[in-house]
Order: sequence, then C-alpha cells, then structure tokens
Amino acid sequence: MKPDLTDDNARWQAVRIRDAAMDGLFVYGVLSTRIFCRPSCPSRPARRESLVSLQTPEAAREGGFRACLRCRPDQPETWAERL
Ligand SMILES: [Zn+2]
Repeated sequence: MKPDLTDDNARWQAVRIRDAAMDGLFVYGVLSTRIFCRPSCPSRPARRESLVSLQTPEAAREGGFRACLRCRPDQPETWAERL
C-alpha cells in the first residue's frame, strides 16, 4: 500500500518508525537545530512539534536547513544503494 504523503500523520509515522522505504520521498527538518534528515535517520527527534516535512533536500536548503551528517539526506545516490 502506498502511503499518502500529503498526510502529515503518515509522514510523522514514517519518521517515528524510521521507515527506510520513505527515504527519497521526503525529508524532514528539525526546527530546533535547523538540520534536515531522511525519514530513516537514527537521530530522529522525539517531538513532532519540532518537525517540518519538506519535499526535497533542495527545498530544505532553501528553507535554511543543513544536511544531517549521519544520514546524508542531500545525497540521493546513496538512497538507492541502501538495503
Ligand atoms: Zn539525519
């Protein structure tokens, strides 16, 4: 079943369970740190309120976020190699 990524709850759920299948479909920014991550990042934040979902790494950068050094959300070529 394809999740509906226009639904905020679906995106939050993907982040919460670190769903690697969602990598490449969206990234999320952490408002407190100004860092953005892919959904499967091990350093996901605990609080939903501090998250903002973003369509692409480009959009995240334009929004003033920096790429996380752990999950490298700015390198799409590594996304495909995972799993
Ligand atoms: Zn990350």
